[in-house]
Amino acid sequence: MNTTVTPHVLVVGAGPVGLATALLLRARGAAVTVLEAAAEDAPRPGSRAIFLHRQSLATLAAADPALGAALVGNGLVWGARCTTFEGREVHRRTYTPPPADRAPFSSLPQPVMEELLRAACRRAGADIHWESPVTRLASSPDGVVVRTPESEHRVPYAVGCDGARSAVRRAVGVRLRGPRSPHAFLVVDVADDPARPMPHERAFHYRDPRMAGRNVLTVPFRGGLRVDVQCRPDDDPEALSEAAAGWLPGLLPDGHACAVTWSSHYRFQQAVADDLTDMYGRVLLAGEAGHLFAPFGARGLNSGIADAAAAAGAIATGDVPGFAAARHRAALLNRRAAGRALSHLTAPAPWQRAAQRLAAAAAPRSRRAGRWLDSAPYGPRDAGVPGSRY
Ligand SMILES: Cc1cc2nc3c(=O)[nH]c(=O)nc-3n(C[C@H](O)[C@H](O)[C@H](O)COP(=O)(O)OP(=O)(O)OC[C@H]3O[C@@H](n4cnc5c(N)ncnc54)[C@H](O)[C@@H]3O)c2cc1C
Repeated sequence: MNTTVTPHVLVVGAGPVGLATALLLRARGAAVTVLEAAAEDAPRPGSRAIFLHRQSLATLAAADPALGAALVGNGLVWGARCTTFEGREVHRRTYTPPPADRAPFSSLPQPVMEELLRAACRRAGADIHWESPVTRLASSPDGVVVRTPESEHRVPYAVGCDGARSAVRRAVGVRLRGPRSPHAFLVVDVADDPARPMPHERAFHYRDPRMAGRNVLTVPFRGGLRVDVQCRPDDDPEALSEAAAGWLPGLLPDGHACAVTWSSHYRFQQAVADDLTDMYGRVLLAGEAGHLFAPFGARGLNSGIADAAAAAGAIATGDVPGFAAARHRAALLNRRAAGRALSHLTAPAPWQRAAQRLAAAAAPRSRRAGRWLDSAPYGPRDAGVPGSRY
């Protein structure tokens, strides 16, 4: 039988993973303090991680059923997915979205998720300190000492959920390693136009003639549409973004208002921390503090929520080495899966481009070829952890 203890845990970072960690720790009875560098009302713009998978929804709903219902109620489930190749449809699947209590996923902007998670943390009694950047952290076999400019905390465990540039990770001497994609991607959020509702359809366009042959992914979320454009090596993403008024209307339904609410461009890093704990098993890393993946397959936030659940369980049972081994293995598999998806999209090798062209040519006769073109950008599904997709 597992022994369950209820220690005081310090969570660093109130992004989505830190908030999920705090909530899941509270659900196990731990006292939780969250230290967040930013102000409570600091803007957190952009759709970012819009896709919450069924597994993440179930994890959060188990801790707070009202949160689970709100995440589904404030999101949408699209009823169609479509793939085109050089402007020709090669795959389409339509389905009737199931009832809310069996939603396979929910698509909503990350800031809305965070708002709902904050409310759930308040209900659960997690203590969040805003404008409290962690500046120092030291661990020992007995626990962790964490400092901000104005406070000092001595706790048995700390969870670093402080994102890609994690101060916690650096303080415990762990390195994040992995390559950065050579391609830049441009992401643009477009607000819904109530006069001309957008179809609830996820579409992937290989070599889209409307974008001079670039790959384009469009994903609807509650309130808008996310457009991801794969830049060419010689593209200036800033200039492409500034020229959006010229090309974006061509990707939207006729007459749809072209109200851009956020735009950003970036190169993906595919990196995993050498270890997800400190040497004493007192500091655990979760979310982007421990790994960065290209977003194809929605592995970033969903795997962060799986980390949060595993961290809460490990602290309750004392099995921190089990957390480190399982989540490190999952991170490596997630990175490989996201890497395969990225490689499929960018198709650096001639054989990959030839395979895509052959599949597109076969698609009118072979549903399997069309399905492969449709699913390949999202990579393999299994994260290699029993019962987990991430
Ligand atoms: C353009 C873009 C598109 C994306 N698209 C997707 C997608 O489609 N699917 C997907 O799954 N993911 C996507 N992501 C990634 C997703 O946003 C991240 O996975 C998610 O934000 C990670 O959450 P996190 O809580 O680990 O880190 P963060 O969201 O970075 O939160 C970290 C928190 O820690 C705080 N912090 C930092 N340092 C300190 C400190 N020293 N002390 C205290 N607090 C600190 C920060 O202020 C922040 O609030 C995208 C990201 C970007 C930028």
